[in-house]
Amino acid sequence: RLYNEVIELKGNIRVFCRCRPLNQAEMANGCASVAEFDTTQENELQILSSDSSKKHFKFDHVFKPEDGQEAVFAQTKPIVTSVLDGYNVCIFAYGQTGTGKTFTMEGTPENRGVNYRTLEELFRCSESKSHLMKFELSVSMLEVYNEKIRDLLVDNSNQPPKKLEVKQSAEGTQEVPGLVEAQVYNTDGVWDLLKKGYAVRSVGSTAANEQSSRSHCLLRVTVKGENLINGQRTRSHLWLVDLAGSERVGKVEVEGERLKESQFINKSLSALGDVISALASKTSHIPYRNSKLTHMLQNSLGGDCKTLMFVQISPSSADLGETLCSLNFASRVR
Ligand code: ADP
Ligand code: MG
Repeated sequence: RLYNEVIELKGNIRVFCRCRPLNQAEMANGCASVAEFDTTQENELQILSSDSSKKHFKFDHVFKPEDGQEAVFAQTKPIVTSVLDGYNVCIFAYGQTGTGKTFTMEGTPENRGVNYRTLEELFRCSESKSHLMKFELSVSMLEVYNEKIRDLLVDNSNQPPKKLEVKQSAEGTQEVPGLVEAQVYNTDGVWDLLKKGYAVRSVGSTAANEQSSRSHCLLRVTVKGENLINGQRTRSHLWLVDLAGSERVGKVEVEGERLKESQFINKSLSALGDVISALASKTSHIPYRNSKLTHMLQNSLGGDCKTLMFVQISPSSADLGETLCSLNFASRVR
């Protein structure tokens, strides 16, 4: 293992919790923070419940509101770079809308997130060992909305989107035939591509943010490696997933399109939870087929694969219910 040795000792499924800061509106409305962090333990947090009892949670790492993108990436780096050693890797951001899933994964141009930093690091690592290994990196971007897969690297705003499906290959792996796989050579190329994908994502929706909270956005990095000493070749995938918002939709809102959307979201998020907790408990039957998301990710979840889930939370007293739901969900998969 050229790029990583530490990960295996710690097991293959990791959960990081990240709490965003209270925002202006919350402060103006007098919302208090319900999240308490231990100054000595970097993996624990407590949530103050409405009955003033404290609920205790423990994860592999807990990021406080003041922890920036660098701190988050420092912990994430060993997991993403294991793709260069031939591992398949999946990273998810899970949580209620507005808790920072997109901030963690995509980030902003001034404050880039895990996706960009990962590609930057993969280029850096592959250059540093270029006398031993040759790597080819390519990127695909897709969205899963109402159990339909859409390619974000195809600008099909003027025509009906091409339907993509998950198919089993002759080798028994799950593939998405027809999905664009764009080779990338440097970070500038990556940034242009990511921007293009994010732009396509918001086309066709009047309220882009609305829609994006109801779909899963997936970035897939394919790494083809060739060992220059023994000629051995590897092909592995790294998936970086910004999941649909996990919030339960209010009863009044739930009708028509909205009802369908929230049923699809619930189905795929609970399917994901079921798969990861089955993997964590080492059960033999892993229910991959219950959603498009888990079916597509089948080869990158389980076995030797590395999995990391960010559970994103809001510190606000107004979000207490959803925060507890998210933390309980994340505790179940750990
Ligand atoms: P989500 O994708 O979960 O709906 P966003 O990533 O869009 O949430 O975050 C909501 C808002 O909060 C954005 O304006 C984002 O910039 C801000 N935000 C989220 N997390 C952080 C953080 N850790 N530090 C500072 N601002 C954050
Ligand atoms: Mg988002």
